[in-house]
Amino acid sequence: MTKTRIEVNICLQSPGKRTGDALLRWSDDARPLGVYPVPIACIVGRSGATALLIAGVHGDEFEGPVALSQLIDEINPEQLEGRLIIVPALNSPAVLASQRTSPLDGRNMNRAFPGDPDGGPTDMIADFLVSVLLREADLAIDLHAGGKASVFATSALVTRSNNQDLMQANLDLAAAFGAPLTWLLGGFNDTRSLNSAALNAGVPMIAAELGGGGGTDPIEVSQAVIGVKRCLAHAGIIKQTLPTAPRSIFVETRSIADNIYAPVSGLFDRQFKAGDQVENGQLAGYIRSLDKLDDVPVPLHFSTKGYVLAHGNRGHVMRGDMLAMVVCETHM
Ligand SMILES: [Zn+2]
Repeated sequence: MTKTRIEVNICLQSPGKRTGDALLRWSDDARPLGVYPVPIACIVGRSGATALLIAGVHGDEFEGPVALSQLIDEINPEQLEGRLIIVPALNSPAVLASQRTSPLDGRNMNRAFPGDPDGGPTDMIADFLVSVLLREADLAIDLHAGGKASVFATSALVTRSNNQDLMQANLDLAAAFGAPLTWLLGGFNDTRSLNSAALNAGVPMIAAELGGGGGTDPIEVSQAVIGVKRCLAHAGIIKQTLPTAPRSIFVETRSIADNIYAPVSGLFDRQFKAGDQVENGQLAGYIRSLDKLDDVPVPLHFSTKGYVLAHGNRGHVMRGDMLAMVVCETHM
């Protein structure tokens, strides 16, 4: 296979703090001979492990990019026994457009891994991440949020692995991150995700969901900053006194039939929040018609006891839209 066509314009090895770009050459009408820069920072201290910190896989999820930008600003090489490689806007064309998918090729990056150096721009970036950056990493963290379309409960995401050591390393990272919920991904996780790429590479990794709505929330951002630092401290990369991580509740998707999808189109009158614990039969809300204002509202109910991992963020919904993602508590 062709090796990556993306070049980085800074040294990722020698001690110090540097910022630059991974240069994506994608010759189109807008930039026939230019590049689409993917900003990258590296902070290298004394010898130790390497953490790869990623955000902006989806371009309308800004909590992660802001949290990683704060860390780039705040952390200095003298504080580190190890190295940070930080990519706060991996799918930078999508981030600059504030949209989930890339405006260059319409692709969802978290369905593009392991990528292709000979593919389109999203495939090329995904391949660069796997074939260059993930190979350098001893651990990886990928920060997401609900974006414009949804709002997530603050949660860490762990991919299940039959490799017990890798599974434990993933769980240890999630425990250090300290989100209220830890979502264990299994058969419902798409194998084209960054989580799956890390699993295949044998690199311990968590992803995180940090609220949503398409902007940033200062509480979510500060929780992410502290969570990432606790993961770095756990890996011995940074020595810093940090607030103790609260215990996280393990949850999993039991069936997508536990989720609530809009049965008809209309206004979604939501009666719960992300993170709520809900009971079987509990009222979730109503769909109210704008076509006929005297139509009886359609009531919606939860069909299982569990936690609301996420809800849709659209006021007017179409039949089939996700209104609630419901996960069940599980034990390790
Ligand atoms: Zn995302």
